[in-house]
Amino acid sequence: MKYLLPNFSHIYIEKDVKDMPLTRIALRRFWKAKIVWIDHYKDIFNRLGQDFQLQKSSMKIILAKKREPFLYGASEMIQDYDNPNTFYNTPVINCLYNCDYCYLQGMYDSGNMVIFVNENDFFDAIEKKILNLEDSSKPMILSVSYNTDLLALENILPLVRRWIHFACKKNGKLIIEVRTKSGLFSSIDDIEPNDNVILSWTLSPQIICDKYESSAPPLKSRLEAIKNAIDKGWCVRICFDPILLIDDWYEIYCEFFDSIFMEIDSKKIKDFTMGVFRMNKDYFKKIKRREPRSEIFYADYQVDNNYISIDKDKREDALSRLKIKLEKKIQNKKILIWK
Ligand code: SF4
Repeated sequence: MKYLLPNFSHIYIEKDVKDMPLTRIALRRFWKAKIVWIDHYKDIFNRLGQDFQLQKSSMKIILAKKREPFLYGASEMIQDYDNPNTFYNTPVINCLYNCDYCYLQGMYDSGNMVIFVNENDFFDAIEKKILNLEDSSKPMILSVSYNTDLLALENILPLVRRWIHFACKKNGKLIIEVRTKSGLFSSIDDIEPNDNVILSWTLSPQIICDKYESSAPPLKSRLEAIKNAIDKGWCVRICFDPILLIDDWYEIYCEFFDSIFMEIDSKKIKDFTMGVFRMNKDYFKKIKRREPRSEIFYADYQVDNNYISIDKDKREDALSRLKIKLEKKIQNKKILIWK
C-alpha cells in the first residue's frame, strides 16, 4: 500500500455523527466500504485482546465525536518553543504510517484509526482558550498533528485544509503546527500561505527511512514537498527528530545534512528541531512485552522521570556534535533541541 490512498474495507461510525459534514465526505469517498453503526468509538477502539500490528496491516477507520478535553498542555517530550501557551490536540488518533519507533503502538491497543469529525467543538475550545492564555502577550501555539500524521490523510478527508482556514481567521492569536512525513503538500498547495501555520517536516537519512520508517514516504518525496512549500511562501520547520544513534551515526547525519542543504535553501526555513529517540516508559514497556521486530527496543536506555532515552551524557554529546555541524549549514537559524 505504501503512500497510496488506503482502501478501507470497513468504516465504523458513531450514530451521533451520522450527519456531520466530514462523515458525509468519508461516506462518499469510501462508498464501497462496509458501514458499521456504533454507539461509542471506545466500544471498538478499546476492545480487549486487540493486536496493534495485525490491525495496522488492515486498518479500519472509526468516525466519532470527540468529548472533552479538546486541548492538552505540551508534554515534556516535545520542544515547547519558549511559550507557555503551547498545546496539542487530537483530531485523529493513530497514523496511516507505522514507524518502528512510534510511541502510538505503546499508547493504544488498537491499530485502527479514529477520526473525530466534530471539528467545530475543537474550534470552540480553542476560541475559549485564546481568551484565557497564561501569557496573553504571546499567541497560542497548537500542534494539530500530534498523535497522527494529519497531512498524510488529506486525500481522505480535508482536515489540514480546515485547520489552516481556522488558524488564518484568528489574526495571529493562534499558530498551528502541522507535523508530517507526508509528500502530500500538493493537496493543500492551492491555499494562500499564511504565517499562522507552520508546516513541519520530519526528515531522516535515507538509511533510517528505509529501515525504520518504511511505511512513510521516502526522503525524496518529503524534500520535494518542502521545496514546493517554501517556493509557495509557506513557513516551514524541519525536524530532525528522532535522531537514531545507529552505527556510524555521525558520518551518516553529517552526509545527510550536506545533501539536504544542497537541495533546500536553509535561509527559507523558519527553524529546526532536533532530538534523540525517547519514549514514555510505560509505552516502551508495553511495546517490548509484545516482542517487537525492531532492534530499537533492545538497545540500552536509561529511565529518566517518565521516559526512556539513551544515556544522558551520550545523547548530549551526540546532539552538541550534530548541532555544531548543522549550524555551519544554516547560518543563524534557530535550532530547538530536546535534551
Ligand atoms: S509518522 Fe509519526 S505518528 Fe505516524 S507512525 Fe511515524 S512516528 Fe508515528
